[in-house]
Amino acid sequence: MASTTEVPKSTLPYPPLHQDKKFVVLTDWDGTITTYDSNDCKYRIPSLLRHRRSPTSDSRSTITYMTDNLGFGKEKRRAMNLEILGKKVTFRDAFKEMLDSVAVKHPFDECKEVLKQNIVLDSGFRDFFKWCKAHDVPVVIVSSGMEPLIRAVLSNLIGEEDAAHIDIVSNHVKELPDGKWEIQYRHPTSGYGHDKSQAILPYRDIPNPPTLFFFGDGVSDMSAAKHADLLFVKLKGDNENDLHEYCKTEGINHVLFRNFSEALDVVANVVEGKETVTTVLEKKGVLPV
Ligand SMILES: [Mg+2]
Repeated sequence: MASTTEVPKSTLPYPPLHQDKKFVVLTDWDGTITTYDSNDCKYRIPSLLRHRRSPTSDSRSTITYMTDNLGFGKEKRRAMNLEILGKKVTFRDAFKEMLDSVAVKHPFDECKEVLKQNIVLDSGFRDFFKWCKAHDVPVVIVSSGMEPLIRAVLSNLIGEEDAAHIDIVSNHVKELPDGKWEIQYRHPTSGYGHDKSQAILPYRDIPNPPTLFFFGDGVSDMSAAKHADLLFVKLKGDNENDLHEYCKTEGINHVLFRNFSEALDVVANVVEGKETVTTVLEKKGVLPV
């Protein structure tokens, strides 16, 4: 995969940097804002899926959900995940193959509707977002997913207007002449497809940069993790805490959280001057082991 020292060319525009802000939140989407909580799940399963989806299917990720339920299925998807971890295939190429298995049978608009009805979101994110908005802290979603799907699912949670205007740095969708679709990567030359560090690093080059909070959970966040001022890592109960393990190995200090309502307390204390990043990490930070 591409190293973080390379600067891959972006095929998609970036939203302007929030140069005049004191604090900026950057957050992963899949597995961080989308979540898995069996107590919160109120599945509304379209009839075309009812015979295929089990109640224990993983609904944390939009891509996982589509691949397992609309594409080539969980078994092959898991096998591909192992190939990614074993570096036999890039994240970019495997991800596209998963999505192609969906696109061959399902139009993009159908996928959007299925995800709107089935993806579960962190129950604390709505209040977190509202607090940030009220306190002049921009929230930027930094994702390996596709922007139209993210906005569609978010509209359920924060409303149509905010979902239409929130900054999203992600991949996009390319509609093909035959009516099919495929993912359009932001960084096609990167093995990640979207190198998330490129959403953070430009802040390092401006005078008086804002304090950056970054929220993530998994493999796709590794390139960005070490560049944040305060890194929040989502801890999940399924032993798939890839970013947490990575940070421990690499010695990257971070704060664990289970829900955005927990994280809001920490962010609010820093923004309101009751704590600093340093004191938070001293009290809550997870040191390398
Ligand atoms: Mg994730």
